[in-house]
Amino acid sequence: MVGQTLSEFDRFALRAAGFDRLEDMHAVVMGGAGFLGSHICTWLVDCGARVTCLDNLITGRPDNVAHLLDRKSFRLIDYDVTDFIHVAGRVDYVLNFASPASPVDYLKWPIHTLKVGAFGTHKGLGLALEKGAVFLLASTSEVYGDPKVNPQPESYWGNVNPIGPRGVYDEAKRFAEAMTLAYHREHGLATRIVRIFNTYGPRMRVNDGRAVPAFFKAALENRPLPVHGDGLQTRSLCYVDDEVEGILRLLLSDETHPVNIGNPEEVTVLELAETIQEVVGNYPGIEFIHRPTDDPTVRWPDVTRAEEILGWKAQIPLREGLERTLPWFRQLVG
Ligand code: NAD
Repeated sequence: MVGQTLSEFDRFALRAAGFDRLEDMHAVVMGGAGFLGSHICTWLVDCGARVTCLDNLITGRPDNVAHLLDRKSFRLIDYDVTDFIHVAGRVDYVLNFASPASPVDYLKWPIHTLKVGAFGTHKGLGLALEKGAVFLLASTSEVYGDPKVNPQPESYWGNVNPIGPRGVYDEAKRFAEAMTLAYHREHGLATRIVRIFNTYGPRMRVNDGRAVPAFFKAALENRPLPVHGDGLQTRSLCYVDDEVEGILRLLLSDETHPVNIGNPEEVTVLELAETIQEVVGNYPGIEFIHRPTDDPTVRWPDVTRAEEILGWKAQIPLREGLERTLPWFRQLVG
């Protein structure tokens, strides 16, 4: 795993993937102290890039990047990216990961979620334009809403309820995609859009309301795992290292249109709950609870474009990824 200590094997793998091109580059990572953003920052620093992380810490934590704080090539700035962004000197990449991302968070901060998706993306695009940098938007599979096609290819326009409670997140990301492509078309800005499917791994918050932390917590505490509805809705979960590698490959590509990055191993939520019980080695059973409004019935990425354009596909099967994640939750819950 790429992280705090880079092995010879990791170095070799990064060079083979062309990531040595990131050496001495300056990347601004918006939302870099969150779950995914902190992994992105770590990979970028490990690849020899200089990283400026802008984060207002609404859902992120300095602890997520604590291992980077004594590196000269990394700095964390407490900043709300919905305000004008000024960064001195050369900037080569601007990556926008800033947004509450779990349903619990965006239902708690609906206006902020809309603002950061819209104004935050606009400010990040402005910075990239000023600096002649490449801009990458962390978009989401939620732009497909409750999809009528399965798996979801990038060409699918989605089935989103704009005025439902989840609309604040889905529509903010759809607006952000439209704004990103507008900057590409009107200003010729180099832009990338990654549609991220559910990602899990170390540094997730235990109470963030997503299925993986909720199931680990319950299993470790020997309480029944809280499954929404009948649990037959499907999800496709990608281990964080796979996800980050796909995102960085996209960053270094020339692809302007959205690319799905996710693991196409589709499972029902019930199957996920069963696998987590097996991984933890506790079998407290299932508690069926109310299913949230507009919760998608299926979620399964069509990753044909990622394979063709980026030569990328997820390598870590669900069970193995959950085993790698277990120590993180054991430490938090234990
Ligand atoms: P997260 O909540 O852990 O990280 C988001 C980060 O953005 C936090 O550190 C938060 O403090 C920061 N932030 C929010 N508003 C901000 C603002 N106005 N100014 C500065 N910083 C701000 O969530 P995550 O899971 O790491 O998601 C990161 C990005 O990836 C999000 O844009 C999300 O939409 C996208 N995404 C994540 C997943 C996933 O499975 N984790 C799936 C699809 C898309």
